[in-house]
Formats: sequence, C-alpha cells, structure tokens
Amino acid sequence: MTAIQHRARRAVAEAIALGWEGPPFDMEVLASLRRLKLVVRSLGDSKREGLWMGATIILRPGLHKHRRPYVIAHEIVHSLLGKDQATTTKSEAGLLERVCQAGAAELLLPFHVMAGHCNGVPVCTSLIDSVEAAFGVSFEAAGRRCLELCSEPALFIVAVGAEHAARWGVRTIIGPAQLRISDLQVVRAYPSPSWTEGTAGLVGLPVPRTSVIQRSFSRATISRKLGATFRGEESWHIGCSQRQLTVEAAPRPAAGRPSAAIAVMQHSGGQATLFAPRPKPQSQ
Ligand SMILES: [Zn+2]
Repeated sequence: MTAIQHRARRAVAEAIALGWEGPPFDMEVLASLRRLKLVVRSLGDSKREGLWMGATIILRPGLHKHRRPYVIAHEIVHSLLGKDQATTTKSEAGLLERVCQAGAAELLLPFHVMAGHCNGVPVCTSLIDSVEAAFGVSFEAAGRRCLELCSEPALFIVAVGAEHAARWGVRTIIGPAQLRISDLQVVRAYPSPSWTEGTAGLVGLPVPRTSVIQRSFSRATISRKLGATFRGEESWHIGCSQRQLTVEAAPRPAAGRPSAAIAVMQHSGGQATLFAPRPKPQSQ
C-alpha cells in the first residue's frame, strides 16, 4: 500500500470513530471533522477547481454538484500530505496529482466499506452502477475503484460517440469521412492491478462496430431502453497481443439518452471479483 493510501485510510478510520457515516460519505463533513473550512471564490486559473491552503479549502464557484465532493476529497488529500508535496518539475507535479486522485478514491469509496458492500461480487457493469448510486460518485470513479480493488485481470472501458471524444480530452483519430455519427471511441481504460497486457493504444481506439459495446449503445439509442446489458466473446488487440476477452457492456444514460457505453473486459473463461475470498487454510 502506498503512503497516501495509508494516510487516507487512517483519516477515514478517525472520522468514522467520530461518527462519520456512509455510504454516501459526505466530504463536507469530513472536511469539517478535519477542521478545514470550505470557501467558494475565484481561483484565477480557469482550470483549477480547488486549492488547499492551510486550514482552508478554496473551491471554484459554479462547481457541478457531482464534481464538488471529488474536488473536496482531492484537496483533503493535499492537506494530509502537508509539507510532503514539494515538487520542482512538471512530471513530479503530475505524479503528485495522480497520488491525490488515488487518495481521493480512498476517502470517497473507503476500502473497508467497499469490502463490506461488494466482497466476492463479480465485477460487472451492474456492480459499477450500484457503487455509483450507493457512494454518490461518478460512474467513472466507481468503475475505476472497482477495478483497483479487483483481484483478477480485468479492464474497465468508457466509450463515447466520436463527436464527443474531445470533451474527454481524446483526439478523434479517424477522418470524418470514415466515421459514422453513431461510432464510439474509447476515452478511458482502467486496468485491475493484475492486468498484464497494459492499455497502450486503447484510448482513442474506435470501438469495432461488431463489438457488444457498440451494439449496447446503438440499441439504446434506437429503442431508448437504457437498462440492457450485452455480453459477448471478442478478440481485441491490446498492447502487442491479440486477446480473447469476455466483454460485458451497458449504455450510460444522461437526460434520458445514452451518453456513453461502459464495459468490463476480462480474459475468456475468467471471473473477476472484488476482494475474491482467499482460500481458507486447510484444517489439520
Ligand atoms: Zn491537486
């Protein structure tokens, strides 16, 4: 476990001992338990959403209500690091932000509470849905955390219509002439710790039109039925190997329309679970 995970888990344990309850876990209450005052005011730099300054967390005005808890959690993690966060280079600063992102997940989706909520549950899109609803986080945060805590090789994918990929910071790599308006493009790929193939080349990849990821999204677009889950065996080129994978996909609605497709991919024949129970030692 990394040092920040350790500090974040200790902060969670201390807060729970003081009566902090969830899920969902209220980040504003956690901030006040840690004697951090929340102030909303302009931060000048338009990209910055929050800033930790001693006993204060400054939040940018107009933060979306779903974004605000994450930003507070992220800044609480900066406060936990305290003086241990001096960076001199751009890459060190980038690493620090990723550390704070990981620490924020520990606060929003605490390890032992997740263990109680989903121990031994197969990692699938409905688990991600239930974590999203119970913990009040985005589907991206829920999926990423589920995969982080998954004991088998698996991958969580988010795909959106190619015309929206830029909003996720992903370049559309094929020309408009070859692209249908309904084509999906992978914008996020989060592996579980035991996934060895890497994710190189996946982000930005157009989803094959025959994939269940594309089919689940197209079906939802046509029928407006958003709850359906699709499953299939597919061959994907990942890293430098061709892999036979079991893919389970579901559309994600926004304002009654499908806005993205999420998918869990795992080695064919495998069954990824969260915190899969360890085999008990044989009794003598
Ligand atoms: Zn930060």
